[in-house]
Amino acid sequence: MSCVFCRIVAGELSCERVLEDEHVLAFKDIRPQAPTHVLVVPKRHLASLDELVDAHLAGALLHAAARVAGAAKLEKGWRLIANTGEHGGQEVAHLHLHVLGGRPLGRMLTPPKT
Ligand code: 5GP
Ligand code: ZN
Repeated sequence: MSCVFCRIVAGELSCERVLEDEHVLAFKDIRPQAPTHVLVVPKRHLASLDELVDAHLAGALLHAAARVAGAAKLEKGWRLIANTGEHGGQEVAHLHLHVLGGRPLGRMLTPPKT
């Protein structure tokens, strides 16, 4: 199994677990971009949002992200990001949602490097 997030789900690689249910695992990002930076992933391998056709799983992922933000008490707000594909800047090819908060996150997009 080469997918790093599948290996985390399987317990082969360690992570700091935040939340877990039957379908979804949430764990802290190894290189946090904000005081709260949690990744929410489906336990089943899907490469990206492009492969997400299961509406129940979609709801479970969104629900888990909202629960993570609630537990982190991000009263001043937070951001959910799903980098998808090459132009979306996706580096790990296992669908994941970034839950970010705990500081002002600035504008939505930064210009690409030329
Ligand atoms: P992407 O750019 O694909 O949306 O984000 C991938 C994220 O996964 C990055 O923020 C990166 O820090 C995180 N990441 C990559 N490998 C690992 C790992 O082994 N453990 C954890 N906890 N996060 C990882
Ligand atoms: Zn995977």
